[in-house]
Amino acid sequence: MDFEFTEEQQMFRDTLREFLEKEFGAIVDKRDKQGPLSKEEAIDVMKKFKKVGVGLDPESIRTLTDPVIFGIIAEEVGRVWPSLLPLLGMGAIPALFVPVATDDVKDRLMPKLERGEFIGCFAETEPEAGCDTSNIKTTAKLEGDYYIVNGRKTWISNATIADAAFTGVKDASTGADTFILIDRESSPFETNELHKIGWKASPTGEIFFDNCKVHKDNEMSVLIQKTFEAGGLPVSEGYMKLLSTMSPATAMLTLPRAGMALASVGIAQAAFEKAIEYSKERVQFGKPIGKFQLIQEMLYKMNVLIETSRLLGYKAAHAIVSGSPEARKLSSMAKVYAGEAAVKVTYMAMQIFGGNGLSDEMPLERYFRDARMMTVPDGTSEIMKLITGYTILGKGFSAYA
Ligand SMILES: Cc1cc2nc3c(=O)[nH]c(=O)nc-3n(C[C@H](O)[C@H](O)[C@H](O)COP(=O)(O)OP(=O)(O)OC[C@H]3O[C@@H](n4cnc5c(N)ncnc54)[C@H](O)[C@@H]3O)c2cc1C
Repeated sequence: MDFEFTEEQQMFRDTLREFLEKEFGAIVDKRDKQGPLSKEEAIDVMKKFKKVGVGLDPESIRTLTDPVIFGIIAEEVGRVWPSLLPLLGMGAIPALFVPVATDDVKDRLMPKLERGEFIGCFAETEPEAGCDTSNIKTTAKLEGDYYIVNGRKTWISNATIADAAFTGVKDASTGADTFILIDRESSPFETNELHKIGWKASPTGEIFFDNCKVHKDNEMSVLIQKTFEAGGLPVSEGYMKLLSTMSPATAMLTLPRAGMALASVGIAQAAFEKAIEYSKERVQFGKPIGKFQLIQEMLYKMNVLIETSRLLGYKAAHAIVSGSPEARKLSSMAKVYAGEAAVKVTYMAMQIFGGNGLSDEMPLERYFRDARMMTVPDGTSEIMKLITGYTILGKGFSAYA
């Protein structure tokens, strides 16, 4: 097994790391505390990313759909400012379908996409349908050429600033679950902000659909059909294979889950590096605390957790590259393991900093709060474990179906 980056991937990582440090390194601690980015700030961030080839427009989006490159982006953004990840990760799903949407939607959104100004969201979770997505109550009723969408979504990343929402609905006449691309300008919906302990600068909100009218050709099966006619999604061959062998929603989630694992690695790595520095500098009992065995034991544990998480994360990314049937299990395992590892690592980093670790003047508490976020969105640890169990045991062993 060789998870070494190619020269090209290495160069991409180095450029991205330098870019992130230069653009956000100095402002992240202060700005993150101030809460959700405004739309203007989010657009400014997206435009900056576009300069290093990372974005949602049809060309740059390949960086977000190439599993290893996306893994690198997740790890590096996680290392510097995890709050920015949903802008890229959750915006990518609607962005993939904008080029095949109805003409009016395309005309409105394509220029935004191309300028790096598009913000999208993936809206599935509802107040009564969290892990149990089969229980969604948002309905889409077909009337002539239009669906009339009614319902409420919650905990949706980017909701308050999104131009479009790729929304999970139940077809009112067939009862089948599907997704609809909803452009906010032509099919208005209301939102409000939710607040949370970590990812403070990432806007998260509820969405309210009240007789929201959307053309029937913005429904997922039509969009996928049109995508195939246009030559397929701009994704790697293996990822495409997964999309055609699993339910599209299940296949689509393999990549964000591997990404969440590697973002957790990034957060843990940042905390680990700070802990190493402090262990060398801080003197107690006449010597640097790094000379104490219990501190070294914590550094050992942190390093092992990070290395194993990184291996699992990139193994999942490679499984998506090859379209392996193991991809779903590996991305689930990686997400739960790395998310929980990041909580442990950031806890230990705070401990090494003693009182300073608990200060809100230091980034340690932000690492800890951001790490704590990683075990819920994109699939809770419990559901990730159940997917793993089911995949190991096979048909008939789903714990919740
Ligand atoms: C910051 C943030 C951003 C988010 N972004 C998005 C987004 O962009 N789009 C979106 O659609 N959603 C998003 N979510 C929602 C997220 O996906 C859900 O919170 C998650 O799926 C869990 O749903 P829930 O919160 O309703 O918990 P519940 O489903 O109520 O679960 C509560 C607890 O029960 C456990 N549990 C549930 N069922 C089982 C079972 N069968 N066996 C064992 N344990 C079980 C869960 O693991 C959890 O511990 C986001 C959430 C957060 C916090």
